[in-house]
Amino acid sequence: MAEPEQTCLSVKCPTCGTSVIWKPENTFRPFCSQRCKLTDLGGWADEEYTVTAQEEGLLEISEFECIYR
Ligand SMILES: [Zn+2]
Repeated sequence: MAEPEQTCLSVKCPTCGTSVIWKPENTFRPFCSQRCKLTDLGGWADEEYTVTAQEEGLLEISEFECIYR
């Protein structure tokens, strides 16, 4: 499970667009912070935006050189 990776995943925060490293410590992923998470959830109130946002988030996943070692 803890295989050494030379690259890791990053996603763009659906709320503000900030790049977020996809790692277990990021409990708010794909959001950059609890604030963005709550903001986005608020916008999901009664629309299909929930599914749309999640799919877009997956599409925006990209690999890049991991800065963590
Ligand atoms: Zn954010």
